[in-house]
Amino acid sequence: MKALVLNENQGLELRDIPKPKICRDNEALIRVKATGICGTDIHILMGEYSAKTGIPLGHESSGVVEEIGAKVTNVKPGERVILDPTYFCGICFYCQNDRPNYCGEKSNTETGVSHGGTYAEYHVVDSNFLHHLPDEMSFETATLAEPLACVINALRQTRIKPESRVLVVGTGPMGLLFALATKSMGCEVTVGDISNYRIKQAKLLFQKVQDYRETKLLSLNPKKSFDLVIDTSGRALEELIEVVDRGGDILVIGLDYSYEAKINPSYLTDNGIRIVGSIDSNKTFYAAIKMLQQVKDFEKIVTHTFPIDEYKMAFQTLGLDFRSLQRGEILGNKVVICPE
Ligand SMILES: [Zn+2]
Ligand SMILES: [Zn+2]
Repeated sequence: MKALVLNENQGLELRDIPKPKICRDNEALIRVKATGICGTDIHILMGEYSAKTGIPLGHESSGVVEEIGAKVTNVKPGERVILDPTYFCGICFYCQNDRPNYCGEKSNTETGVSHGGTYAEYHVVDSNFLHHLPDEMSFETATLAEPLACVINALRQTRIKPESRVLVVGTGPMGLLFALATKSMGCEVTVGDISNYRIKQAKLLFQKVQDYRETKLLSLNPKKSFDLVIDTSGRALEELIEVVDRGGDILVIGLDYSYEAKINPSYLTDNGIRIVGSIDSNKTFYAAIKMLQQVKDFEKIVTHTFPIDEYKMAFQTLGLDFRSLQRGEILGNKVVICPE
């Protein structure tokens, strides 16, 4: 079968690899229909995030059940499904303490990072990590369920209320997911970015869109007028402390390991400000699928679909040049790769 494999030089390569087989009674073989490109994939290819070589990448996916193991009862062959790539063991300290997203087994079981991923025609999974894909939802929209499940998990750790004034920094796929999720909860939402394309696209969905290319975030928001600020860029924390109101939360959700911030803890204490970090989903897939069904605007986050053979074009749309490994101009939002 065709698959996009991470080679020994940390590059992505289209290879013909053996079709995976069901080895345990609880597993299901899935014919993958769509996988969304995640920021993590780009970080891996740019050498900023480590992943196992020799395996297919990809983890935000949907497909059709092809075959099931003897003990599988929750899905049948032919059924459309969404895959939860965040495997957990259920018995380690973290799993037993309601934190399965930090499962002790995670280092060797992360789909498309340390364990074979879904940029492939077929994929074998533990059937407990499959969710029914609603009939009216496309395979492409369904790839948003995983990142949206992470968004909902993050929001649940904040003090968000329907009346919250929210600022989302970054209008890439994660930023738009946060912005649409909080808007659907009733919040007043402002978004902002530095990419021309993404600013334009955000304007199709939101009225309050800020442009940080020429004007700084701080000068556009001189008052402390937000109850929740969400940083999907990973490098705006210092500025965000200046714009969050008393009793507000800062959600740090972007990954930029080179960024460091100077913080005055007494200021946080005096003003009751919380900084919240969050990663992965935590029993939030059901909520994510429900929200995708209810709020049709989510579909607009997926801007491009490419067949697997055109994967270079797919990554280039997100500004990743395969030759120089530099980030260039971004010309898409969520880009999806389909094996056929
Ligand atoms: Zn992802
Ligand atoms: Zn565990």
